[in-house]
Amino acid sequence: MDRMIRVRGARVHNLRGLDVDIPRDQLVAITGVSGSGKSTLALEVIFAEGQRRFLQGLTPGQRSRLDRWERSEVDLVEGLPAAVCIDQRSGSTAARSTLATMTEIHSHLRLLFARVGQVHCTGCGRRLESRSPQAIVDVLQGLGEKRRVMLLAPVVSRRRGRQLEVFEQLATEGFVRARVDGELVELSPPPELDSHLDHSVDAVIDRVVIRDGLGPRLQDSVELALRVGSGRLIVSCEMPDGGWDDTLYSSRLACGECEWSAPPIEPRTLSFNSPEGACETCRGLGRVGEPGEESECSDCNGTRLRGLAQQVTFHDDSIVDICRLSVEEAHTRLSGWLESSEDDGTPESAVIRKVLPHLVSRLGFLERVGLNYLTLDRSTRTLSGGEFQRSRLAGALGSGLIGVGYVLDEPTIGLHATDSQKLVSCLEDLRDQGNSVLLVEHDLAVLRQADWIVDLGPGGGRRGGRLVVSGPPEDVMACSESVTGAHLAGRMAERPRQRREVDPGHAVTLRRANLNNLKDLEVAVPLGVLCAVTGVSGSGKTSLVSGTLVPLLSAELSGRKCEDVGTPAAELDWPEDSGLDRVVLVDQSSLGRSPRSTPATYTKIWDEIRKVFAQTRMARAKGFDSRRFSFNTDPGRCEECSGRGHVTVEMQFLP
Ligand SMILES: [Zn+2]
Ligand SMILES: [Zn+2]
Ligand SMILES: [Zn+2]
Repeated sequence: MDRMIRVRGARVHNLRGLDVDIPRDQLVAITGVSGSGKSTLALEVIFAEGQRRFLQGLTPGQRSRLDRWERSEVDLVEGLPAAVCIDQRSGSTAARSTLATMTEIHSHLRLLFARVGQVHCTGCGRRLESRSPQAIVDVLQGLGEKRRVMLLAPVVSRRRGRQLEVFEQLATEGFVRARVDGELVELSPPPELDSHLDHSVDAVIDRVVIRDGLGPRLQDSVELALRVGSGRLIVSCEMPDGGWDDTLYSSRLACGECEWSAPPIEPRTLSFNSPEGACETCRGLGRVGEPGEESECSDCNGTRLRGLAQQVTFHDDSIVDICRLSVEEAHTRLSGWLESSEDDGTPESAVIRKVLPHLVSRLGFLERVGLNYLTLDRSTRTLSGGEFQRSRLAGALGSGLIGVGYVLDEPTIGLHATDSQKLVSCLEDLRDQGNSVLLVEHDLAVLRQADWIVDLGPGGGRRGGRLVVSGPPEDVMACSESVTGAHLAGRMAERPRQRREVDPGHAVTLRRANLNNLKDLEVAVPLGVLCAVTGVSGSGKTSLVSGTLVPLLSAELSGRKCEDVGTPAAELDWPEDSGLDRVVLVDQSSLGRSPRSTPATYTKIWDEIRKVFAQTRMARAKGFDSRRFSFNTDPGRCEECSGRGHVTVEMQFLP
């Protein structure tokens, strides 16, 4: 235990000159009652100090723009590793972020599809093959003796203008003839074209009559045509009736039928974060319209990508098909691809055998943190705080970084006991990779598995902020002052049960609930009692309660039809004499949309306080009304920060 993070004299918020030593490369839990200062120590002292040091590594120019960056109120933090915070803030993520992009699964998929994917024609859907010059020569020689053939290089395809520069360039390169809009013409003097019309220009590379021994000449002409035609060449053959018939060949991926040639496919071609890949209509968002009235983009069907991305397949799946799968399904499918891949010495098989293992292991980490049910294209904005945090944890496990200090705020919040255990084993893996893991945690089962516990308290707010005990779980259990220790050791007297009789007839009955993964669910929720709905992650708790029961019940109680309020279809039934008249949802969503919202403004206490101040003698003498005491409006609020109390510095220039 000689490698320690030493904190001396921490005074942020209610911490009172806290001194504590925390072992590195261990699983450490910081605990204590609500308001004891746990999160302050983890996030605002240890993590903030780690970030501040990162910022000190910036150039002076970059740093000068961060003059306002406060030093945390702490005398000394020593032995700190580079810190990464795996938080639950899902609201702050980019609009295009999905589960696949945030875990880097998408970038690996893009590499795989761009390098070894099979490209299909956007017109007719057939697989596109590119032809080598030798293969085209073979085709020409197979046309038969005495056949008259022209080799043309397409230079301009249906473009408006006189094309004078094109003709000059071709003449300079030594070409004598061109085919303009289907007619053969001399290049000197250049043909006169109507500048208002579209024209097509093909350079005439060679005119031959097929016979034996032409191989080397054809080879030269084909290569020249492909160079002049940027990878494309037209073979025009005289037909028995005297007409000419064109076939387009390409050394790149092109469809001869549709005369469509695929642009080079790069990983960014498959990215909705890149202008080259993003659907032009929704700019890669997958949805169109104003916030609140959004609908799926009809051009890309919500896939966020241009049509081309769906024309690239691997084992008959496009990247869009894969991203529509759940983590579990994708894991199974990609594992299958990996098993069936053979090292045949080609560059393709090398890419497959390099990229697929990364993908399979990252999907495995997502399963291990209990997110097997999420689809890869799930927008991170719609993830719950816990799901967001566990996705980032899976990403951290997949990154394979070592020597990092990971800080997690209550990672087990809202988790079923089964899922908590999976999470702990992931945290142990992160530690065993050579990292320090620091949790703010309440869950007793998790605390028992920590290597070290820092217990703050003894109470909350002014009665907190002190170190009660710091050591292995046994030390904490043995500490008589520690409330946490008493709980861990089972010394707390259990509260006597005050269970009520449940009357089965006095209940709200829900039938045929089918939202998300609910399957024709029928359930009775007894009234007048405390009732718990539980189940592992993804089992449908939220779909049942906040997705179905609450909106349906409040709609019916307020006399509206369910169809009118867009609530999910299900049947609801409750006894006449239930006395039910209102549903109140107490969830964890933030209280106010305004950054100035505080507990005092939310509960309207502040309005009363402002009135009291406006009644004082001095306020009346100065003519101040209650608005003078509001930080929400002028003239009360501070002009510099518009009443926020802090100023945000744009960080876009950070590396
Ligand atoms: Zn085609
Ligand atoms: Zn779109
Ligand atoms: Zn201010």
